Amino acid sequence: MNTVKSSNLGYPRIGEKREWKQALEQFWAGKLEKEEFLKQIEEIRLQHLQKQHEQGIDLIPVGDFSLYDHVLDTAVMFGLVPKRFKYSGGKVSLETYFNIARGTTGAVASEMTKWFNTNYHYIVPELGEAVPALVENRPLQFYKEAKQRLNIAGKPVILGPVTFVKLSKGYQKSEFNTVVNQFVPLYADILRELQQEGVEWVQIDEPILATAISKEEIALFNEVYQALHEAAPNIKVILQTYFESIEHYEEVISLPVQGIGLDFVHDAGQSLAAVKQYGFPQDKVLAAGVIDGRNIWRANLDDKFSVLAEITEVVSKDRLIVQPSSSLLHVPVTVKNEEALDEILTGALAFADEKLHEIVVLTKGLQEGKEAIQTEITASVEAIKALNQSSVRNNTEVQEAIRGLHTYKADRQAPFSVRQGLQEEAFELPLLPTTTIGSFPQTQEVRKQRLKWRKGELTNAEYETYIKAEIKKWIDIQEELGLDVFVHGEFERTDMVEYFGEKLAGFQFTKFAWVQSYGSRCVKPPLIYGDVSYQEPMTVAETVYAQSLTDKPVKGMLTGPITILNWSFVRDDIPRYDVANQIALALRKEVEALEENGIRMIQVDEPAIREGLPLKQEKKQSYLSAAVYAFKLATASVQNDTQIHTHMCYSDFKNIIDAIKALDADVISIETSKSHGELIHAFEENTYDKGIGLGVYDIHSPRVPKLEELTRNIDRALQVLDPKLFWINPDCGLKTRGIDETVAALKVMVEAAEQTREKL
Ligand code: GLN
Ligand code: ZN
Repeated sequence: MNTVKSSNLGYPRIGEKREWKQALEQFWAGKLEKEEFLKQIEEIRLQHLQKQHEQGIDLIPVGDFSLYDHVLDTAVMFGLVPKRFKYSGGKVSLETYFNIARGTTGAVASEMTKWFNTNYHYIVPELGEAVPALVENRPLQFYKEAKQRLNIAGKPVILGPVTFVKLSKGYQKSEFNTVVNQFVPLYADILRELQQEGVEWVQIDEPILATAISKEEIALFNEVYQALHEAAPNIKVILQTYFESIEHYEEVISLPVQGIGLDFVHDAGQSLAAVKQYGFPQDKVLAAGVIDGRNIWRANLDDKFSVLAEITEVVSKDRLIVQPSSSLLHVPVTVKNEEALDEILTGALAFADEKLHEIVVLTKGLQEGKEAIQTEITASVEAIKALNQSSVRNNTEVQEAIRGLHTYKADRQAPFSVRQGLQEEAFELPLLPTTTIGSFPQTQEVRKQRLKWRKGELTNAEYETYIKAEIKKWIDIQEELGLDVFVHGEFERTDMVEYFGEKLAGFQFTKFAWVQSYGSRCVKPPLIYGDVSYQEPMTVAETVYAQSLTDKPVKGMLTGPITILNWSFVRDDIPRYDVANQIALALRKEVEALEENGIRMIQVDEPAIREGLPLKQEKKQSYLSAAVYAFKLATASVQNDTQIHTHMCYSDFKNIIDAIKALDADVISIETSKSHGELIHAFEENTYDKGIGLGVYDIHSPRVPKLEELTRNIDRALQVLDPKLFWINPDCGLKTRGIDETVAALKVMVEAAEQTREKL
């Protein structure tokens, strides 16, 4: 076939209305028999293939579907089951598969971590315990299923060996090549069997190529892919990368594969520039990821067509594949069910299904000429224009503020050394002050009341009274416990981003725009679609009420600009950092409103600051500078004796320690549960000279910690941190915990603080 082809890299698993999640959770809860569960899941899987087929996609991915996570799928395919799950070889059972992901009473789950720079989490494979073996050819099985059931000759998707090993743990870095080579014969077997089955195309994902990798590693790629090619010479392998442009373009396009998949969206124009500058091999296919697989906006088909047209000046049409920039796993399923949204907004949205349509249209345009798709092109341009011209995107006040950012002071009046003394006088806290991170248990009852209020079954006044009673209850509990710095408990919030999004202008909430975060857990990020602006105080009433009940300081509690940004789908018509600064300016008003109302400690949470870190070294610094600037813009206008706190959930802290210092927060609290030792180590090498609380106990488990454990954690931290700067707090918010265990744990924490103080 001498034609341009359309392709997809992966389709969302969760279903239009999260049917996949429901099936999984019912099965886990024992409410669905295994057979029925597998039947439902199979239906979902086939339906997704059918949908893509009906859309007209030529190369339909198979094997991308998963019951939990595709990295875990790859690990179990190689029989990589940690010893503690008692596995004795052969195909890994469904039970064991879920046990690895979720843990059992006797064995902790495998670790979970972020998939590159996304909010998707994968299960980290544990190598080094078992010798890998191909216990099940998953790609083959799914290829056959699609072929037999739907007569679709799919394109098996496989996570490539280099990336797979890179993402795993349990081996020495110096052994990397050896470990990768251990897997090569297994991948060769997979491909050989696929070839026997008559498979034409295989997509092998190696996103690691889009991160900073060395030339030696490219040499390894060469060896690996040469071996795979020799094993199955008739298979056309597309080496697929995404999330960034690739390092070492010339070397990568020369690898012994038949196709190269590149991201033409999240690459700052570098992929196209490279294709034009260095050309593209005549004997390979270019799979061009031109439709954004990470965002929800409709594509300007005129622009996309131009990019493709430029590519065709280098790559002939019969060697071109049109596809999304990455798997569509990271976007919701379809706009179709969002009936309540504004028409102008809906017109400018494209989720997975709509993106596939865009791909098919562009493919047709390349094939038949631009005129053939002119109607679609015009429609896309008009729809985007309508949104751009709408009032939500034209708030002149906000836009002027952004243009005049330099007039806002983004530094505190005095340095920390001066503020510290003033704050000591103002608050008169004991040494090693105790506090919590913000939220207290969100019980069934709290959720029930909120739901009633949302449905209109409770009046605003009734709901407010209820929330106030909760706040009062917990102020009393904190008083009783003898904590030093209080919080109001965040009972009025379902979610730390949603709460602010609903109160700021420029946000929109959808009904079904869920995406998988990990396992069956899905999140529904808000859409930042317009200029973000402050409308009215968002947290003042609750905080001031809480403060009125006690003499202890109550911390105001806000979500920071970068976390709001990273946990939303963000408009792409203006620079991302402009959006961050718009949010920061709005938060600045809230910070000022809190201060004016007598709240003198204000915590601005940035748990997601690390996850937005770009993959490329050269972009990291500008991201971190922008993040620091936005945080300071939001917080710096306060008086010297107003104390700014921040909180971060731990994630590879050592790489961003300078940025954290630069936030210039008076106090930071950090989650440390998973890597206490490592974190302390980071501080041994880097002095930290402002207030800091390293979480002294893990809030992810209902277990009440022992006094000795806490004193030990505190002692360890005090070996490297100044006791005058150290705070004692749990790891993170207590929202997901029960009341009794929370009170019991905090009691131990306060006791540990008292004991340690006496020793100092
Ligand atoms: N203040 C928030 C809470 O306590 C922080 C949550 C978080 O770090 N993810 O719930
Ligand atoms: Zn946290």
